Amino acid sequence: MAVLPILTGDHPLLRQQAKKVGKVDRYVQKLLDDMLETMRAAPGIGLAANQVGRLLRLVTIEVDDTVYQLVNPEVLSSEGEAIIEEGCLSLPGYYADVERPAKVGVKALTRNGKPVKINADGMLARVLQHEIDHLNGVLFIDHLKNLSDLRYVAPEEEAKELKE
Ligand code: ZN
Repeated sequence: MAVLPILTGDHPLLRQQAKKVGKVDRYVQKLLDDMLETMRAAPGIGLAANQVGRLLRLVTIEVDDTVYQLVNPEVLSSEGEAIIEEGCLSLPGYYADVERPAKVGVKALTRNGKPVKINADGMLARVLQHEIDHLNGVLFIDHLKNLSDLRYVAPEEEAKELKE
């Protein structure tokens, strides 16, 4: 596995639609594994292929000690609403409270190409929606009514907070 560079800021690939994966082959599996390693090294709890410069519909997520490596994930249903603070590895230091559906039903293929359905709530529902947005060129700041709702925490301050 390898840690890949994460694209940030106004990089154009973060604003493009990722393409549907036709076949879950070894290239796709290796990319999913590299994405998982990259996400953990960051560290983060979700990563979409756009963020490492590959326009393929792939995401990795790790929530509550469970790893999801998903191919062509798609939201089938959504329910309720929740306001949860989000950040993004591509917008380091920026955070905001974002309103989204509280629960989602998602279909995807696994790392082995098997169809899977995930009914998620809480943080998993949140990360799934955030990552699927990335595949459509959408960032969490696009959901804010006002950009002044964005908070910035300098990375060195953040590290200090984590240590304390
Ligand atoms: Zn993100």
